[in-house]
Amino acid sequence: MYLKRIELAGFKSFADKTEMEFVRGITAVVGPNGSGKSNISDGIRWVLGEQSAKSLRGGKMEDIIFAGSDARKAVNYGEVSLTLDNTDHVLALDFSEVTVTRRVHRSGDSEYLINRQPCRLKDITELFMDTGIGKEAYSIIGQGRIEEILSTRSEDRRGIFEEASGIVKYKSRKKEANRKLADTEQNLLRIHDLVTELE
Ligand code: ATP
Repeated sequence: MYLKRIELAGFKSFADKTEMEFVRGITAVVGPNGSGKSNISDGIRWVLGEQSAKSLRGGKMEDIIFAGSDARKAVNYGEVSLTLDNTDHVLALDFSEVTVTRRVHRSGDSEYLINRQPCRLKDITELFMDTGIGKEAYSIIGQGRIEEILSTRSEDRRGIFEEASGIVKYKSRKKEANRKLADTEQNLLRIHDLVTELE
């Protein structure tokens, strides 16, 4: 699996639809200061579900939509699509290519799509779990992140190893199962109370 293509439209400095192809191996993005290099990695993290405007270097989520320039009007929505080669089926979908898309409108409405079909953010998060690609995973190492990884608490560092070893999915399912179990126990207690009242 590798990142084949990214398409950005109305995202940060990319007012027009912009498409970039990546090849196997190393692809370097070069350009003058302020030309939008970091906006590309922001776009990747955003599609993968980044919810913090601050970590996308903005004040609020609307800041990721192209805000206009001297030459161009602002646009009403921003969209980023990532296309991954999945011929090795690392992603648990029966497609050799997987495209994930996120779109946000100025109204605040947002949409997520997998292969152009609407889905939930949860579906995207689950799709990338334990693949090393998720927004918290180790595939995107931003400026200062190495220092952060080395200096954070050992419990936080552990998350990176858990993702790499492929157990995050199971931990997440266990958490969900425990939550359902707790809900069921509460429901049982309520039923028990009702039965006692009726007796
Ligand atoms: P450097 O080499 O200095 O790190 P860079 O190539 O990584 O720069 P970015 O930080 O990706 O550049 O891009 C910054 C540019 O993106 C700025 O010119 C900023 O005005 C523009 N920009 C960011 N958000 C928006 C937005 N919502 N609308 C329009 N332009 C935006």
